[in-house]
Amino acid sequence: MHIDPECPVDLHTHTTASDGSLSPEDLVDLARQGGLCAIAVTDHDTTDGVIRAIEAGQRAGVVVLPAVEISSQHKPGSMHILGYFIDVGEPHLQDTLAEMVRNRDRRNRGVIERLNNLGVQITLEEVAEYAGGDVLGRPHFARALVSKGVVSTIQEAFDQYLDAGAAAAVPKEKLPPEYVIDMIHGAGGLAVLAHPYQLRLGDGEELEKRVRLLCDQGLDGIECFYPEHSEPQTAIYLSLAARYSLVATGGTDFHGSSKNQTRLGLQPPLRASCVLQLAARRARNICPRS
Ligand SMILES: [Zn+2]
Ligand SMILES: [Zn+2]
Repeated sequence: MHIDPECPVDLHTHTTASDGSLSPEDLVDLARQGGLCAIAVTDHDTTDGVIRAIEAGQRAGVVVLPAVEISSQHKPGSMHILGYFIDVGEPHLQDTLAEMVRNRDRRNRGVIERLNNLGVQITLEEVAEYAGGDVLGRPHFARALVSKGVVSTIQEAFDQYLDAGAAAAVPKEKLPPEYVIDMIHGAGGLAVLAHPYQLRLGDGEELEKRVRLLCDQGLDGIECFYPEHSEPQTAIYLSLAARYSLVATGGTDFHGSSKNQTRLGLQPPLRASCVLQLAARRARNICPRS
């Protein structure tokens, strides 16, 4: 891979293929304007934006890593696993992602039913207008609820109706982490634990136990650099990466204007050397292990 190890990269971004506000092409354009030499497109449970982003990247001179972010079973918080360098045409991966889409459709219909039962008159078609043909998810429900005057802010929509445990929330069926890791490996990719603070296991013993288990299950990396991580947290995650031979990655979780964060690229910047480490680890993984 021809990439300057010093140039800035962002390995966690979303497009309109999931819940981001920018198309794959516009995301790549923003990356180029921001001086990034590589991004990973990590949409939730879909790779639909990846090929478009790669093609736009070839035109713009930005390396685009084929990737995905998959929600996995975990309590008390949430566990997201990033898959980097995946073969997006791999059948088992695509079959599983398609099944997740069917589950999401069932869940969306369930949210509508619950809202209706709560006296909120809203239809799936109305919510779909806010998705503009893209995967329909909670941000679109939130926008519909605001525009109908049911709540006054997006945050209120999540707090009162959509967040886990709220009045109209329907729990998401999730895959066990070992299944997700195997599936990513089966597609030739590397499995990386996203934003570890969201596991809500603290930064001590509990977190380490979980990371050790995930390592036994084949985890390849841990997202150490993330806008919500404090400096001490980043240091703890880096030390876990070092002790368990995991690649330390990072990204902004860029969603454009869909969430309150519009900056692409971390401060201080994440360097492309971590992309090269991922590539090296992948080369080792696909060689027969002795
Ligand atoms: Zn996530
Ligand atoms: Zn994300």
